[in-house]
Amino acid sequence: MLNLTLREISMALREGNISPTELCRKCLNRLKQTKHLNAYITITEEQALKQAQQAETRLLQGAPKGPLDGVPFAVKDNFSTKNIKTTCASRMLKDYIPPYNATVVQKLLDQGAVLIGKTNMDEFAMGSGSTDGAFGPVKNPWSYAAPYCERTGAVPDTDWVITGGSSGGSAAAVASLTSYLALGSDTGGSTRNPGALCGVVALKPTYGLLSRHGLIPLVNSFDVPGIMTRTASDTAFVLCILQGLDTRDSTTVSPALSSTEMLEELDVKNLCVGIPKEFHAPGLSEEIVAQWSRVADMLEKAGARVEQVSLAHSQYSIPCYHVLCCAEVASNMARFDGLQYGHRSQIDHSTEAMYATTRHEGFNDVVRGRILSGNYFLLKQNYEHYFVKAQKVRRLIANDFKRVFGSGVDVLLTPTTLSDATRYSDFIQEDNRTRSSQEDVFTGPANMAGLPAVSLPTALSRRGLPIGLQLIGPAFQDKKLLSVAQWIEQRVCFPFISDFEESNRQGSCYNLNLAGAQR
Ligand code: GLN
Repeated sequence: MLNLTLREISMALREGNISPTELCRKCLNRLKQTKHLNAYITITEEQALKQAQQAETRLLQGAPKGPLDGVPFAVKDNFSTKNIKTTCASRMLKDYIPPYNATVVQKLLDQGAVLIGKTNMDEFAMGSGSTDGAFGPVKNPWSYAAPYCERTGAVPDTDWVITGGSSGGSAAAVASLTSYLALGSDTGGSTRNPGALCGVVALKPTYGLLSRHGLIPLVNSFDVPGIMTRTASDTAFVLCILQGLDTRDSTTVSPALSSTEMLEELDVKNLCVGIPKEFHAPGLSEEIVAQWSRVADMLEKAGARVEQVSLAHSQYSIPCYHVLCCAEVASNMARFDGLQYGHRSQIDHSTEAMYATTRHEGFNDVVRGRILSGNYFLLKQNYEHYFVKAQKVRRLIANDFKRVFGSGVDVLLTPTTLSDATRYSDFIQEDNRTRSSQEDVFTGPANMAGLPAVSLPTALSRRGLPIGLQLIGPAFQDKKLLSVAQWIEQRVCFPFISDFEESNRQGSCYNLNLAGAQR
């Protein structure tokens, strides 16, 4: 049951093959078995069982609230959830309980979906590893699966690999089968990056399609709620539920997508796929390049037109992102002053001392560093040189996309990450951390231009870890993008983690058990 897709489980619930309560218990049990992954900050067991009970009553009466009635889901801990702790993985908000739900959370609850927990992340969504939260790092479930252990001889509790970030808890939740659907946030790649490293489908929708109301901001002009599921079709299903105008977020637009959640049958012969030549970036692993070519060839052989294109300014996306991100962070984080929200320091002999120590105690060094940089970029004498210049570069990056899509290209095919997942012990070495800041090189440009982009798993690497590829499309072509993703997905047949069941632990490694492979 746990390895079904969202559509399949929704059908099973409606047909009475499993009850919401039984399903909820199964997820909670699985969650206990996979606690070592540290994917969740808060498990909402009591509320979840109550919601499942209510869903059960509705289903028995033949009156489900919607197609997700009784389906368990998880939410990144930077989405506000009414009466449930929302920490942003920060000491600053460790006891914060919001009085309202984020719009996207509310929309899922309105469908009868059952919230089983809040997922772990990098503090305030700043990071690419899910290693920098106040509640410890998230472990990639694939670290415990047979392909990685057998091929590398890895010892799971020592050699585990990162999930990527910052929505690593959500990606791990979907990959480890504790949840059929998880919400992440995506500012520079935080949904797609862990989606790729954990082998799940991860969508960053067009900016404005989903409401940001209740999503604690990182960079307001880049942030979007992200969707993680196990298939492209499940993602389309959720997208249709979440999209739409919200009076509480003035940047939202009316749904541009049809309300039927089924994806169109794709005729690849009419498809033009662009391959951005600048995306052959330094540090890109050979294996990822091989996957990229394999899928491009697959599309070409099926009749698609595959063309090399140029996105000349995307090479500046990392420094441009850095300036704009820090500038917005400096302003967004100003609200955490010890008076209005969250942590307040005991040291209060003066207002200044209270502010300073509250922020010192409440934020980690990544957050503090960005606040400092942001304030520096925004100084009167620096503003033109950094902030205004970065905005101009952002416009050039967006214009490159406009030109390419205007010339008849339907989608761009690119890598999502530079390599497969890094070992935690390597990641925390300083130069690797620097390298991780380069990780958004393929994902950041879509945020700058507000475009939809999806990462989907296509293969396991030689180390037995997932490799993802990214598709980027024109604004509001989210469903078309998912149709292409589905076409690829049906041909690459990426396995679920349950295909390598991890329960038969032998010695230091988990045993390959293909009995779980039948779905
Ligand atoms: N890695 C990027 C950062 O640290 C992106 C984060 C995100 O998308 N939330 O800012």
